[in-house]
Amino acid sequence: MIELSIVIPMYNEQEVLPKLFERLKPCLEAITKNYEIICVDDGSKDETCTMLRAYNNFDERIKVIHLARNFGKEAALTCGIDYSSGQAVIPFDADLQDPPELISELVAQWRKGYKVVLATRRSRETDSWLKRVSSDWFYKLINVVSTVRIPHHTGDFRLMDGQVVEAVKNLPERTRFMKGIFAWVGFSTTTVYFDREPRAAGTTTWNYWKLWKFALDGIFSFTSVPLRVWTYVGAFISLVSFLWAIKIITRTIIFGIDVPGYASLMVAVLFMGGMQLLSIGIIGEYVGRIYSETKQRPLYFVEDTVGL
Ligand code: UDP
Ligand code: MG
Repeated sequence: MIELSIVIPMYNEQEVLPKLFERLKPCLEAITKNYEIICVDDGSKDETCTMLRAYNNFDERIKVIHLARNFGKEAALTCGIDYSSGQAVIPFDADLQDPPELISELVAQWRKGYKVVLATRRSRETDSWLKRVSSDWFYKLINVVSTVRIPHHTGDFRLMDGQVVEAVKNLPERTRFMKGIFAWVGFSTTTVYFDREPRAAGTTTWNYWKLWKFALDGIFSFTSVPLRVWTYVGAFISLVSFLWAIKIITRTIIFGIDVPGYASLMVAVLFMGGMQLLSIGIIGEYVGRIYSETKQRPLYFVEDTVGL
């Protein structure tokens, strides 16, 4: 019986691997002997995969899944969770930004009976100003428009009971916004707080453009408010236009035809054109997602596994 599964998606993490296992294993050892570390090699281009295989030779609790190509962190994490067999599962980042020492606290809360134990960052001092501000705005926005509450300052690092993992596996959507999916399933939840560290080695593969697309995925997969808002915008503009039309018609009837009006005409045409393009763009976001959902492509392909 495996008590604890640690799931680590990895993309080009060769520099950090020795440090990772050196720090992670004693932490797990102190909690239970029955654990597994599932490393999902997300199509790394460096020596990550070869190194993982070597680690498995020394310790069979380090299990390796080699994906057919780089499918992205969310898919890699989904894959690792699918293959996990622990009574509790903890997604973990390879770069040691989340302290493995906290795992014992997560497990302690789980043993008290909580099904989900969130690890929430106390501060974001290690992040740049822009990242802090944009993430603040993102969480404010998504929690206003979406019905599921997505916890602030909380990444994928958390503990989930096997029951929660089963629930997560039942969400078959292609757009994997894992934080949202984890939040959506619910279950009794508690939180522990920690300070996040800078990356132990290597560099992040997330740039602002990727983060922006990721934020859009989060919003569009967890709410249809952006679609609905156009009903209200449209109704409001129609009302204003109607009142304005009455004014113009009345004035024309009383005072005759008034030739000037170029400015108001242009403003109205351009404003309406802009609004329409924007709303079509929003519909496009949803149609695109419907398209990728209907294709029903698998989220990932496993090339081979070691130790599973
Ligand atoms: N990762 C992955 N596939 C990718 C990009 C990243 O599996 O295409 C992994 C990466 O190896 C790390 C985790 O996802 O274990 C988080 O990535 P990173 O530290 O680069 O992101 P950040 O902490 O900056 O959000
Ligand atoms: Mg990181």
